[in-house]
Amino acid sequence: MTLSVAIIGSGPAGFYTADALLKYRDDIEVDIIERLPTPYGLIRGGVAPDHQTTKKVAKKFERTALTDRVAFYGNVEIGKDLTLAELRDMYDAVILAVGAPADRKLSIPGADKKGVHGSAAFVGWYNGHPDFQELEPDLNVDAAVVIGNGNVALDIGRLLARSDIGRSKTDLPEYARAAMDESPVKDVYLFGRRGPADAKFTNVELREMLGLTESISMVDPSLLVDSAPDDMDDRAKRLADKNLDTMRAFAQRDPAKFEKRVHFEFYASPVEILGDDHVTGIRMERTQVVDGRAVGTGETFDVPCGLVVAAIGYRAEPIEGLPYDEKLGIIPNDRGRIDRGMYAVGWIKRGPSGVISSSRPDAAQVIDHISEDFGDLKGVGSKSGRTGLEKLLKDRGVRAVSFADWQSLEDAEHARATHPAPRQKFTDVDDMIDHLDRPTS
Ligand code: NAP
Repeated sequence: MTLSVAIIGSGPAGFYTADALLKYRDDIEVDIIERLPTPYGLIRGGVAPDHQTTKKVAKKFERTALTDRVAFYGNVEIGKDLTLAELRDMYDAVILAVGAPADRKLSIPGADKKGVHGSAAFVGWYNGHPDFQELEPDLNVDAAVVIGNGNVALDIGRLLARSDIGRSKTDLPEYARAAMDESPVKDVYLFGRRGPADAKFTNVELREMLGLTESISMVDPSLLVDSAPDDMDDRAKRLADKNLDTMRAFAQRDPAKFEKRVHFEFYASPVEILGDDHVTGIRMERTQVVDGRAVGTGETFDVPCGLVVAAIGYRAEPIEGLPYDEKLGIIPNDRGRIDRGMYAVGWIKRGPSGVISSSRPDAAQVIDHISEDFGDLKGVGSKSGRTGLEKLLKDRGVRAVSFADWQSLEDAEHARATHPAPRQKFTDVDDMIDHLDRPTS
């Protein structure tokens, strides 16, 4: 008897779960179903292109994908090629690992003007995600504003402030490399609605700003308190104290020596995007923090800029047939359990927080649920599993992309890269399929 499990989504949460399932028992078959022809989710489409070391975890996921109890079905979309209900009919267990791909919206007047982007779109664009390759943000600007004080805001600010990006070892697609290289941007503003001790930057990432050779990070020293408030929990306080130290070190560098500036601005919240058709500036309101929350003071000021990116967090998208928690932007679940046979891991389960490996405990929780629900193998064995899926995809003429197909795409990406870039990504789904189906001579 074999337990059949389908995982929807091939990002870190999906792969950590596949790996945990393989270790959990031998009599198990794990099929990973992915909307794009390419695997690895945020590793490929979210982690910054100049953070290649972080992307190395894909090698571990590749080993998981290559075991014979795992199969990859890329270019297969649940809700389009087959329904969730059909998938549940075919598998003993279905695990949602589809992340939180949608932007939390910047709901202020003017947010729909040209030149205003959400971070999912902007990050997707510079990472060559097929959904966003045509975004073409105008980087021909002197000043850019990034809203938010998390690591995504920091990634965006850093990439805009790096003049050496074209010469560095990144997997930026050619269009993004060219746009960033040619961008005349001199000032990048990162706005936090609360104070420096409340910023969600992790310290390694913040310290990276001190290593940039052509841009300087700046902060008003009068905002840097001696230490983070004592009422913070220990872990948060340790991080905040480190971040305050790092920001103090910003002031040790001489601004005159740098071509670009990254301004870390605090206690300011966006109230309006200015301009006619295209953004020409942003109106910010001064805030004060009351009971941990940013509250507007009524005092406003304008910052001229030609680009605004809102990096204010992500949300999962609703899934037909399942409840959806509007407030948290997740599918409601009890520690990963939606019901018997249906589970969730990663950002769709707990919201967009943590680093890549934070999905590992989610995988362990799901194993506990599966063990509880199916450990005695009662009722297992009657589902069609992989055989059923393959038949259905064939009957419907779906061009599923296997892991071997993906490896062939990846070989081509490596082969066409120009040193020092590690790869030149395919960014268009049709191009990927054409490459795979082109007759070999
Ligand atoms: P995040 O860490 O939750 O940060 C969101 C930021 O947006 C916060 O500063 C938040 O302020 C602010 N914000 C939310 N709503 C706002 C509004 N209406 N107006 C103004 N500001 C607003 O989210 P993220 O940066 O998207 O990152 C998501 C997760 O991915 C995080 O866990 C992050 O660490 C992780 N990540 C890690 C790396 C890395 O390790 N290198 C890289 C990228 C992302 P408040 O704090 O006041 O709510």
